[in-house]
Amino acid sequence: MLLVGNGKMITRDDAKMFYKDGAVVIDGKKIKEVGEFDALKKKYPDAEFIDAKGGVIMPAFINMHEHIYSALARGLAIKGYNPKGFLDILDGQWWTIDRHLKLSHTKACAYETLISSIKNGVTTVFDHHASYGEIRDSLFAIEEVVKDTGVRACLCYEVSDRDGEEKCMDGILENEAFAKHALEDDSDMIAGMFGMHAQFTISDETMAKCLEHTPDGVGYHIHVAEGIEDLHDCLHKYSKRIVDRLYDWKILGEKSLLGHCIYINPHEMELIKDTNTMVVHNPESNMGNACGCPPTMELVHRGILTGLGTDGYTHDMTESWKVANVLHKHHLCDANAAWGEVPQMLFTNNAKMANRYFDAPLGVLKEGAAADVIVMNYNPPTEMNDSNVNGHILFGMQGHDCVTTIANGQILMKDREIKVVDEEKVYAEVREQAADLWKSING
Ligand SMILES: [Zn+2]
Repeated sequence: MLLVGNGKMITRDDAKMFYKDGAVVIDGKKIKEVGEFDALKKKYPDAEFIDAKGGVIMPAFINMHEHIYSALARGLAIKGYNPKGFLDILDGQWWTIDRHLKLSHTKACAYETLISSIKNGVTTVFDHHASYGEIRDSLFAIEEVVKDTGVRACLCYEVSDRDGEEKCMDGILENEAFAKHALEDDSDMIAGMFGMHAQFTISDETMAKCLEHTPDGVGYHIHVAEGIEDLHDCLHKYSKRIVDRLYDWKILGEKSLLGHCIYINPHEMELIKDTNTMVVHNPESNMGNACGCPPTMELVHRGILTGLGTDGYTHDMTESWKVANVLHKHHLCDANAAWGEVPQMLFTNNAKMANRYFDAPLGVLKEGAAADVIVMNYNPPTEMNDSNVNGHILFGMQGHDCVTTIANGQILMKDREIKVVDEEKVYAEVREQAADLWKSING
């Protein structure tokens, strides 16, 4: 049994949002009790004590859209790469990288992403993977790292026609094999979706094959209208808009997750809402690729279940929140925009979305919830109470303030020290794989 205490505590439980001096008791994989520190310390004198040292105890973060495959790109300059637009960025950078990824690189990417996630207090990751250099078994290779690092992950492979029929089929079979494997896993720590890159790289023939190989109970994870080119492609080839095409192929539904949704109209929003489909917003990625600003505030106001991801841009969910906060204010010329919507997406909606794939209640500190708890090194100069915790996180915290990360009752990091793997050894291997990947790309 663990007792995390001696700090302020944000529960995300409506019954009592905030404790000035709180504690959470963990028994096995679940939370046994939350309450006042003094009382719980007396009640559970034998529990292993994790000292929050006056910091903030809160539920761990959930990242609803990540790209493990991009982890070794930091600092890489690809010879001749000079993008003129979004499609050049995809083909010249990301597809160039993933075409060189072998299983050993993919595993290194997974270690980097998941260790960084732990250091940013993220314990649940929905990933969208591509490694066209070696497709088969790539999700299983990532799963090994997921298990080694102790995080919770929902994996899928980005099916695409872009590298020919054989590789497309390999992606389809990888999704099918992994999703079936994940459905049989009863750890509640691994899940699988059916991944699709985007409609503009998926023909009708490929759509049909994907559907044929999708196991029951599994939804789709796909980029939607990330660039205007995706919409133009769909109108040109199929005389319909993107969400209409996905609806016609029965891709929408409560288990499906649409990334971005920048160029969608009110009719498409209605289809998304009527089918109870999920949407994930990735503000930094959209800005960095000069793709445009999605109508995220409208999606939230319409009651569409919309969450927050990072798209591989960062592993820090507070960073994604900070950028979403200013992006929508700036875009809408409305200084009141996004105050409530983005924290609702990050905390309430991400948890609801993740719980469409995982059983234990996530994103909340209360009895019976998953024991995913973090401690942030944050002691503010101003009062913190149940009505202003979001302002403190938004303006006072960043991911690397996380000092202790617990997932599923296991201590993954304590006082900034990674406990699940030998970090130095793992990073030495990651650096070797990165050098090997860069060499294979640039020669
Ligand atoms: Zn993405």
